[in-house]
Amino acid sequence: MSASPHRRSPSRRRLAVLGAALLTAVGLGSVPLVVSAQAAAADLGHAVLPAADGWAASGSGTTGGKAADAAHVFTVSTRAELARALKAGPADAPRIIQVRGVVDANTDDAGKALTCADYASGTGYSLTAYLKAYDPASWGRSKLPSGSQESARAAAQARQAARVVLSVPSRTTIVGVPGTGATITGGSLQVKGADNVVIRNLTFGDTRDCFPQWDPIDGSSGNWNSAYDAVTLRGSTHVWADHNTFGDGPHYDRSNPSYFGREYQVHDGALDITNASDLVTVEYNRFTNHDKTMLIGSSDSDHGLRVTLHHNVFQGVVQRAPLARVGRIHLYDNYYETAELNGYAHSYSINSRAGAQVVAQNNYWALSSDRKASQLLSGDGTGAVAGGGNLVNGQPTDLVAAYNAVNSKKIRTTVDWTPTLTAGLQPAAGLPAALARTAGAGVLTASGTFAR
Ligand code: CA
Ligand code: CA
Repeated sequence: MSASPHRRSPSRRRLAVLGAALLTAVGLGSVPLVVSAQAAAADLGHAVLPAADGWAASGSGTTGGKAADAAHVFTVSTRAELARALKAGPADAPRIIQVRGVVDANTDDAGKALTCADYASGTGYSLTAYLKAYDPASWGRSKLPSGSQESARAAAQARQAARVVLSVPSRTTIVGVPGTGATITGGSLQVKGADNVVIRNLTFGDTRDCFPQWDPIDGSSGNWNSAYDAVTLRGSTHVWADHNTFGDGPHYDRSNPSYFGREYQVHDGALDITNASDLVTVEYNRFTNHDKTMLIGSSDSDHGLRVTLHHNVFQGVVQRAPLARVGRIHLYDNYYETAELNGYAHSYSINSRAGAQVVAQNNYWALSSDRKASQLLSGDGTGAVAGGGNLVNGQPTDLVAAYNAVNSKKIRTTVDWTPTLTAGLQPAAGLPAALARTAGAGVLTASGTFAR
């Protein structure tokens, strides 16, 4: 297997022309252009999505902050530095943000750790009072919480959000510096209404909401819902997520308490792609120790949602790998393990619903003895899953036939499109060994080749 290639190494002259055009476009044409000395090197920060590498390669492709001038190449190692780099003007300047070591999002501007109690302080919120106010025995199950404790909860949540939600503007590359254990802990990178964003070589951990909201009418028994995905794409286009690792550690769901008979869920998605996001490539990531892993489409009326997932590892995830609605979604060369890990027990892998047009091709499942091939898919009877070449424990397996044999809401087998952006497509047999070496954060060297 080859490394994620970096085929484009444009000359300085071409970069300068590009940069000048961008400066002209933002009305700064007279400012002298300084091209970073790193621009010509094939380092991780300047690398762009290769041609034909999934939906994000469509049209203008995905280059992130490649055209950044020297003033917009940042190295950050704290939440305050990361927030400053994301906001440094002008807003539409291409930028490269290199993360060195661990950035803890739950910290103040001086770097002091912030606790849930710090966020709640002064709002009047207390979990004890909240549980008393909205106990179904007195509040009932027919209406959402409202009143002083719900207002206090929302105020406390807003205070945490102001620290942990980090908005990523257009033309940005965020990349972990190899060899530094680059990590964003407790944070939620929010790519909202943005175009052309690259997120590479980062570990995301412990993204957790201090203030879950009780929703008595979510599902048949109510649910505790949390606000933050480690990475969330909303209304964004041309996004490349590559060689990252996502997980809940060190706060696994098994330590969540239960209130009103439901798990007090402090986590939401790992990487959610919603609200008409489109043209997204997710490759060589590692998803572990998580429940609601990847939502594609937030409702049945969402749109866009053309997403490619390839060469990702799903290990110890409960569900949504992904949950796909509406879009044209290509899943190839992904590797799934269904064995329970740290209390995360497999529910299903791929859910195709709301008319989703999924092509699942050359994926590999390591199926544990407690699970069946009929339990790898899920759906509502309107989604499709086409494609072949999938292996379960090395055996060619028709996933849809296995699912449909035991479910009444059948998954459809034909889709309205044919994937063409399929860089690196390979037979599934080699995936377990190859991806153990090549997926996730920390395996890339500074020049984009594999470290091990
Ligand atoms: Ca740090
Ligand atoms: Ca979410």
